[in-house]
Amino acid sequence: MVHHDPAQQTTVARAVELTGVGVHSGADVTLTILPAGADTGIRFVRTDGPAGPAVPAIWQSVAATELCTMLEGTDGRTIGTIEHLMAAFRGLGIDNALVEVDGPELPIMDGSAAAFVEELDLAGTYPLGMRRRMIRVLKPVRVEIGASIGELLPCDMPRFDITIDFPSEVVGRQSMVFDLTPGVFRKELAQARTFGWLHEVEALWKMGFARGSSLENAVAIDGDRVLNEEGTRWPDEFVRHKALDAVGDLALAGRSILGLYRSYKGGHRLNVAMVKALLADSSAYDLVPAPTEVAKAPAREMLLDARV
Ligand SMILES: [Zn+2]
Repeated sequence: MVHHDPAQQTTVARAVELTGVGVHSGADVTLTILPAGADTGIRFVRTDGPAGPAVPAIWQSVAATELCTMLEGTDGRTIGTIEHLMAAFRGLGIDNALVEVDGPELPIMDGSAAAFVEELDLAGTYPLGMRRRMIRVLKPVRVEIGASIGELLPCDMPRFDITIDFPSEVVGRQSMVFDLTPGVFRKELAQARTFGWLHEVEALWKMGFARGSSLENAVAIDGDRVLNEEGTRWPDEFVRHKALDAVGDLALAGRSILGLYRSYKGGHRLNVAMVKALLADSSAYDLVPAPTEVAKAPAREMLLDARV
């Protein structure tokens, strides 16, 4: 393993290719992750049909947040289900990459970020010789959408405090608090799968959505029962997945956020609204060089709190 300044920007050390089913179309899609230069960020490009523009993975490109987080290019073509790959980039500290995809959405893989993390770890990262800069939260910013509440608060670590509350015995109320480091991401979040209720999936199927959705890429709940034979990967896999989604969606700020993100009953819509609210108020943040103690995955990588 090559040791370098951990506060440097990185990209993938070589191209990474993955194929899988798109959860909404049900069609096979292949994505290719290519190295990119410093300060180019994460960009997506459709390679099916005529050559499209590279779409920056920033909140201004977001077209929808209902069933997944979806970006739209200047040519009107969309790229859906980007959130788990975005979480993997952010979780592993990969700042710059060009992602080619030959269809309208990224492959869902097993419903978590595990396959992305595995392939990205095999490829390794390449240091780009330029310091990473972070968005530091300077004052509290709050967003409420219905019953969902989000807050960004000043904090000297990229910290998450996520709570979900579903009227279901298998899910119920779950919370977790953690400082985001590559170690915590790999161990505590990357394998947490998306989840849904059977009656909701059936309704989506009728409307022609979620065609690729199956027990191979989601935890399905029917009443107070998990339908997957293998059960859950953790009793609180549900909140871990919501935390994974939050990591991916907050990455749409274009840089890592240095602050505490607290969300209650959140989701893609709240997460993206939170990024927009922060960046809309120039007195709420500034840009600072990444402190090395944040970037280098401290030995005290810790799960501050995880409880069912
Ligand atoms: Zn998700």
